[in-house]
Amino acid sequence: MSAAVLRIALDMPLRRLFDYLPPPQMPLSDAVGQRVRVPFGRQRLVGLVMDHADSSDLPAARLKAVLEVLDASPVLDRSAVELLRWAADYYHHPIGEVIAAAIPKALREGAPLIAMEERWTATAEGAEAAAKGEPRRAPKQRELLQLLLARRGASASELSGGLMEGWQDAARALAKRGWVASTEQPLLPADTRDAETASALSAVNISTDGVAGPAQDAGLDARKKAPVLAPEQAAAVARVSDSLGHFAPFILYGITGSGKTEVYLQVVERVLARGQRALVLVPEIGLTPQLVSRFRERFQSPLAVLHSGLTDSERLQAWRSAYTGHARVILGTRSAVFAPVPELGVIVVDEEHDASFKQHEGGFRYSARDLAVVRAQRAGVPIVLGSATPALETLHNVSTGRYERLSLSRRAAQAVPPRVALVDLRTSAVQGGISTPAVQAIERHLADDGQVLVFLNRRGYAPTLLCTACGWVAPCRDCDARLTVHRASERLRCHHCGADAPLPTRCPQCGFLVKPVGQGTERIEETLAQLFPTVPLVRLDRDVVRKRGDMEAAMRRMHSGEARILVGTQMVTKGHDFPNVTLVIVLNADQGLFSTDFRAPERLAQTIVQVAGRAGRGTKPGEVLIQTEFPEHPLLLNLLNEGYDGFARVALEERAQAAWPPFSRLAALRDSAPTSDAALEFLTDARRLRVPPRSIQMRGPVPAAMAKRAGRYHAQLLLESADRTALHRFLSVWLPEVEQLKSARRVRWALDVDPIELF
Ligand code: ADP
Ligand code: ZN
Ligand code: ZN
Repeated sequence: MSAAVLRIALDMPLRRLFDYLPPPQMPLSDAVGQRVRVPFGRQRLVGLVMDHADSSDLPAARLKAVLEVLDASPVLDRSAVELLRWAADYYHHPIGEVIAAAIPKALREGAPLIAMEERWTATAEGAEAAAKGEPRRAPKQRELLQLLLARRGASASELSGGLMEGWQDAARALAKRGWVASTEQPLLPADTRDAETASALSAVNISTDGVAGPAQDAGLDARKKAPVLAPEQAAAVARVSDSLGHFAPFILYGITGSGKTEVYLQVVERVLARGQRALVLVPEIGLTPQLVSRFRERFQSPLAVLHSGLTDSERLQAWRSAYTGHARVILGTRSAVFAPVPELGVIVVDEEHDASFKQHEGGFRYSARDLAVVRAQRAGVPIVLGSATPALETLHNVSTGRYERLSLSRRAAQAVPPRVALVDLRTSAVQGGISTPAVQAIERHLADDGQVLVFLNRRGYAPTLLCTACGWVAPCRDCDARLTVHRASERLRCHHCGADAPLPTRCPQCGFLVKPVGQGTERIEETLAQLFPTVPLVRLDRDVVRKRGDMEAAMRRMHSGEARILVGTQMVTKGHDFPNVTLVIVLNADQGLFSTDFRAPERLAQTIVQVAGRAGRGTKPGEVLIQTEFPEHPLLLNLLNEGYDGFARVALEERAQAAWPPFSRLAALRDSAPTSDAALEFLTDARRLRVPPRSIQMRGPVPAAMAKRAGRYHAQLLLESADRTALHRFLSVWLPEVEQLKSARRVRWALDVDPIELF
């Protein structure tokens, strides 16, 4: 006999769903997306209903029943469930683990979907009794009854939070007589702006015309006045607004400071005016208080902010606020692409080229940008991918007509693009990593009241500790890497595994004095302090920014003008607006010019353009100096002469010739093991399992460029094909076999579909 079953996803590394019998009263049609508790071996697990079926392949006797349904309504709506299934298919990853990435931990552990609170109210009998002055003998009970009548009830937390001490006993006694009662009620987020929101919503303006006009005319949700848009901005807002209500992918391609954020704000405003909500994704490092406050200042509507720095309970709260529809704008990093957004109207992905949108650790390696496009397509809403340096994949999508390009070619606020020049390190005098022309430029800009930004993508004091007598360099025991000198803390640290040791003064091999070689930000800070002893400096890198607030403190010193020079890593390149920075110096553009990774030139060009974009954002003209040993390198010349657009054109031609993405598709099977042999053995076994069709090339296995990391050996097997469908078809038959390999148990492995870093 066959019985209807629920097909349930459990957080397990298995590529399948599990069949369970539904509870008798459960309407199956509403079951999808609900959480259930099920028996699994000796455990009880929380799972998510993905589907239901009329019968199971399992014999009826072996089917177990769902123990409990946790939600009255689905945690995920049908489109979210479909997106997750799509992601599990595309990334060839177990659905249970995909869902685990999408839902806050607290919910996976069974926390209620909507926060409930215990609320006490007086009953009609209670009101009558109180009118007669009851209960006469119990002043405490009388006081509570009066209080509940006067306030029309109170929550347990309000009562405990100062309304009345020791109210519990009185409440129990009153409840026994039927004079008060308690209920569990959904807790509304304690947002002080609730009232304002309600009034803003009731006054929603449905009209979407007049797109070019300033915001105060178009939407009533504006709290801070929006500037009048420049013509290109207005055109971009109009194009996206015209597409509200159906899928349309846009790339908002505008140099830094050209007003992209302003375009997002005004598009979001129109979406809110339609009674819909917006999902805004930003890179990990881009989610700065500056950006969040621009959204907060502009809109009265509540915001939910989701990022990796939240505690589990903060994340649950933000998620609930999105789920209930309380939040109207959901702003978040990578995993926010899975956030529930009822009445979604638009998706924005800021800095869409940023590598942090790709999850590159753990098992489920997804691209939040790519999933955002899929989500927009499924939801039938426009998506705006913004960048000053779009990914080559994205630009390719423009040239094939899949995406529409919206350009912002001018800077807002009268700023002009900076002048960019190369400094030849071979012919210039260099002191502590800084060339004489750079020093002179700094002097000039400081004298002109400008601020200076010095960029170096390497933290620490020096990347190498060397013995000049015997040639010894301090190595990491667990990695194929050198230890970095950290002078202030007097430590040697490995930037790959975190190994940490005291800084020796003498060579452990021959006893001669050792010396730091090369520069990190810490040393540059020291050199600048010697060159400009009276000029206040700020350094910004992961060593100085350790907790929330550190970054803001550094930013404040720059903004107030107290600090004049900012030295930093990648951290300084994004999301911050320093109107007074007039000079940017890129100390070393050469890492990346000769890398084995085919994406290295793209990343280098993006970094240079992004950091250069920090110069001259205000009204003063900016200047950018790039130090290099290879001033004739075509990439640098091309970038200098034709900008990112010119670079991208040449780089895409090169990709086409070499048949790299976007002209082919990649998937990397990667692993790590305690020995190099074990790492290679698994991949060799995997390769031998199946001969792929001719349209697919398998390359490797090869050890990673830095094979040994944190004591484990890394290797990879690359699959490449011009035919995406063929590649995925092959992966779906091959991977289940790979999983079964005996050697798979001796390694840690993961499949990376569309990898963005190759080693
Ligand atoms: P992006 O996101 O492209 O870097 P922003 O939106 O942050 O650019 O704009 C850069 C600066 O110009 C900001 O200070 C912003 O307030 C200002 N700005 C943007 N658009 C306008 C406009 N239409 N009129 C006046 N100022 C603007
Ligand atoms: Zn030595
Ligand atoms: Zn190490």
